[in-house]
Amino acid sequence: MATLNLTEQEYIDRYGPNPAHTPAGGWDNRQPDKLVKTHCCFCGVQCGIQLKVKENKVIGFEPWEEFPVNRGKLCPKGVKRYMQNEHPDRLKAHLIRSLDHGFREASFDEALDKTVAEIQRIQGAYGKDAFAFLGGASMTNEKAYLNGKFARVALQTANIDYNGRLCMVSAGAANKLAFGVDRSANPWSDIPQAKVIILAGTNLAECFPILTDYVWRARDNGAKIIVIDPRITPIARTADLFLPVRPGRDNALAHGILHVLVQRSWIDESFIANHTSGWENLESLVAEYTPEKTEQITGVPAQSIVAAAELWGPAETSMLLHARGIEHHTKGVENVLSYINLVLASGRIGKPGSGYGTITGQGNGQGGREHGQRCNQLPGGRDINSPPHRQHIAEFWGVEETSIPQEGLTACEIIDAIEAGQIKGLLSISFNPLVSIPDSERTRAALEKLEFYGAIDFFMNETARHADVVFAGSLQEEDEGTVTTGEGRCVRLHNSVSPPGDARRDWEIICRLGQKLGQEKHFSYDKAGQIFEELTAASKGGPIDYSGMTYQRIEDEMGIFWPCPAPDHPGTPRLFENGKFHHPDGRAKFHAYPYRPPAEDIDSEFPLFFTSGRVVSQYLSGTQTRRIGGLVDQYPEPLCEMHPLLAKKLGIEDGDRVRVVTRRGDIELPAQIVRSIRPDTLFIPYHWAGKKAANRITNRALDPISKIPEFKVCACRVEKIGPPENASTSHGQ
Ligand code: SF4
Repeated sequence: MATLNLTEQEYIDRYGPNPAHTPAGGWDNRQPDKLVKTHCCFCGVQCGIQLKVKENKVIGFEPWEEFPVNRGKLCPKGVKRYMQNEHPDRLKAHLIRSLDHGFREASFDEALDKTVAEIQRIQGAYGKDAFAFLGGASMTNEKAYLNGKFARVALQTANIDYNGRLCMVSAGAANKLAFGVDRSANPWSDIPQAKVIILAGTNLAECFPILTDYVWRARDNGAKIIVIDPRITPIARTADLFLPVRPGRDNALAHGILHVLVQRSWIDESFIANHTSGWENLESLVAEYTPEKTEQITGVPAQSIVAAAELWGPAETSMLLHARGIEHHTKGVENVLSYINLVLASGRIGKPGSGYGTITGQGNGQGGREHGQRCNQLPGGRDINSPPHRQHIAEFWGVEETSIPQEGLTACEIIDAIEAGQIKGLLSISFNPLVSIPDSERTRAALEKLEFYGAIDFFMNETARHADVVFAGSLQEEDEGTVTTGEGRCVRLHNSVSPPGDARRDWEIICRLGQKLGQEKHFSYDKAGQIFEELTAASKGGPIDYSGMTYQRIEDEMGIFWPCPAPDHPGTPRLFENGKFHHPDGRAKFHAYPYRPPAEDIDSEFPLFFTSGRVVSQYLSGTQTRRIGGLVDQYPEPLCEMHPLLAKKLGIEDGDRVRVVTRRGDIELPAQIVRSIRPDTLFIPYHWAGKKAANRITNRALDPISKIPEFKVCACRVEKIGPPENASTSHGQ
């Protein structure tokens, strides 16, 4: 409920007196100095919210009912998001580590000078690429652009990447391969018009709760909902058809469904002939994937595969939505392409209620991957390997084309290069790889090998504890800027409060470093708005064109969908409406990848699948949400989900301490016995650090195209350690 942070009078005015609704902590009756319309700092839905600000502090929130995406609704994370501001861990001063005494406070200039001296020393001794930069996809578009420019112009290192490499890159690569452009094809407002919806590998109700409302509106309009997942997640409990796929078998399941569509002639031959290429190869591939063969691979009953095709095939309108469940694999790109095949074969795309969407997990999961902070990308979604693209950006920045580094290493490869001693220095911003990258003990060992590590963050996260310099950066509400939501809508964030103490806005820290590295003319901005103006100008004519956007337009129009190539262009909520895709020939491409097993499959030593994911009350590596009491109370520690049949076989009862072991290491935690998971699979959420980190045991094997790690499947075994630590605790559902 979005009402809990109203004053008592506001509540009564709106809903009438009701003593039962008094919040646990009592009413916050302080009147704010101002209400600031902005957006939630968490997932890629980017719900609108009004922050209540008093004396430069955020003291609560109000629903923002006019913002069309969420119309005032917020999920548990959204309603509590403001509570992190006053946390005692908030970094208010910059820190420098000394060998003898740990961290000490330092002035901004001292922290800058130390960092610049170390950058110059390392690059002088080992070469430019020996210093790497890791950015984040929760940061604004302005910061994503600035990070890329800083790495190429000031550091001149090839090795810049971002934590979206752990999140949306399989979808992004597949979008480009299939459609020639990396964006969801439809606005969320198309979802309620769909008559059948496939939700593939998305725990929608916990990870993107407000989008659940769109799916339920579709259901109210008569839509059939198909959920594909190894777990009966909350959205699956209300599905019309649930396909409990064995982890790591997703593209085989898509092939099996397409096989039936072909057999029953539920494909759009005219659309395929006029708007696509590659159908013949795919048709001959899926001919092998009979329902019976697909059942053998995926564990999904043949009749359910047929039932899915019977729902999808003849539907008048349809939407495919997917997320990390099919993307976090060594064949994540192949999985996404295989599901996109279903959309293209039906010909239902580019129309109201028909199309495709990838649901972004991070707050700026879409915009964070568009403006040049990826190792292979320049602003405007340009390709760093393309000579014309390089020349265009070199001229725009006023630098020599030859001074722009070539493509560098991806995020996990950067950690591996540190481990191998090839990268000696690192600067990271809003990235917590010790929690978020698989095989975390290897990451820890790599961090210890760095000759210098500088971190920019607003809390002392687990990775920053290994730093030599920690800059106190800014929370989302302490800066202005833009983010681009999972539907491709660029929205405006407003500055609510100023950073506390000596903390600085992130872009100011980056700019001061750039200036001290001798690039004053390239990093002399007075405000985030100037960076946005440069970003939009840099994007002009590129694959991702924001050049018609201004802060004022974005605000007036409640967000603008790209491409928006001119000031009088309305933006593009729905792509491909004219049947033209963004490949040079205007055609979408089918892709025919045969099923191949995961990098590590089960065997006699490790006979169970292990998979990881999120819970509703936590966000990513937990840097923010583990500091919000109400969210911690909701799910205080990681639990190991297992099916009762498996638990009975192993003599494990609900709440017992268990040890889950993989080839990387082990984790000890309480068991949670649930009927909502396959009996051959264990699940642990990944938001915790240290001995509670699920990524102690996950597999760092990478997708060859997207370089995303295989978070969603590896082989494990589980053993009972003992009874619950607190015998009265029960974790049952
Ligand atoms: Fe925030 Fe996402 Fe929840 Fe909306 S759905 S309130 S953006 S976490």
